[in-house]
Amino acid sequence: MTTPRTHLTLTRLSGGTLRIPTKYIVKSGTDEEREYPDWAYLVEHPSGMVGLWDLGLDQDLGMYPPPVQEKFETFRPTPPEKALHEQFPTHVKPEHISFIIFSHAHWDHLHTPNTSIFTHPNLKLWVGPGTKKAVGKGWPEDGKSTFPGKLFQEKVEEIELRDDEVKFGRFGRTYDLFGDGSLVVAGAPGHMPGNLCALACTSASSPDSSATFTLLAGDCAHDKRLITGEEEPAEWREEEGGEMTSMYKDLGAARVTWGMIREVLEGGDGRVELGLAHDWGKE
Ligand SMILES: [Zn+2]
Ligand SMILES: [Zn+2]
Repeated sequence: MTTPRTHLTLTRLSGGTLRIPTKYIVKSGTDEEREYPDWAYLVEHPSGMVGLWDLGLDQDLGMYPPPVQEKFETFRPTPPEKALHEQFPTHVKPEHISFIIFSHAHWDHLHTPNTSIFTHPNLKLWVGPGTKKAVGKGWPEDGKSTFPGKLFQEKVEEIELRDDEVKFGRFGRTYDLFGDGSLVVAGAPGHMPGNLCALACTSASSPDSSATFTLLAGDCAHDKRLITGEEEPAEWREEEGGEMTSMYKDLGAARVTWGMIREVLEGGDGRVELGLAHDWGKE
């Protein structure tokens, strides 16, 4: 575990909800739907730099392209009651946001380029390495794509993960965003190519107390019991005789990531909180 001397202020923001039959999430699941939140996080660094980890759902679901809207039947999205920036602490304005890290490229964590208010020219948009290749041309050039093409082709940059940065747990390739260990981004394979997680220091170590952290884990898992090992992931066939599929493009890699997250949580001895994007255990 890193021992940063600076810490961030993290504010959890509601990016709306999804209603998903639990049979798509855990093996013991059924047709019964559960409401899954869609969390985003505001990240404030003591230097004054402010950014976001994911955005949650767009306020105007009608702005998503048709291939995304086709998914609404399964995922039943509801946008947040208050837009993301209306949930910011009063001293933070939308124009203060200087970076957004998308844990991955799925629509439920992005605003559509037409509606996003986070469009100022110096804003940095980051994704994990391999995301752009996975996104491809995107919509509308590819009429079936659920990814906004222009956003990923022209505006988003891939974070360069390195072997020689500050590390946490067994996460090997990382990027120390502020250069002080307060936010260490890592590749977290499994859910989709380029998937990221990050360890955010929420209180620094002092002579009297050890540092505390939140492990921002996006869609590394859609239920924390997959990480603790209390549940197995759901798998199903889209069509008879077809291949087994799951919420994880590479389920084997996702299992390895769950193991690494579990170790960080256990090694933190209660000092590491888990911040999954769809964690239904949080109010
Ligand atoms: Zn996802
Ligand atoms: Zn998601």
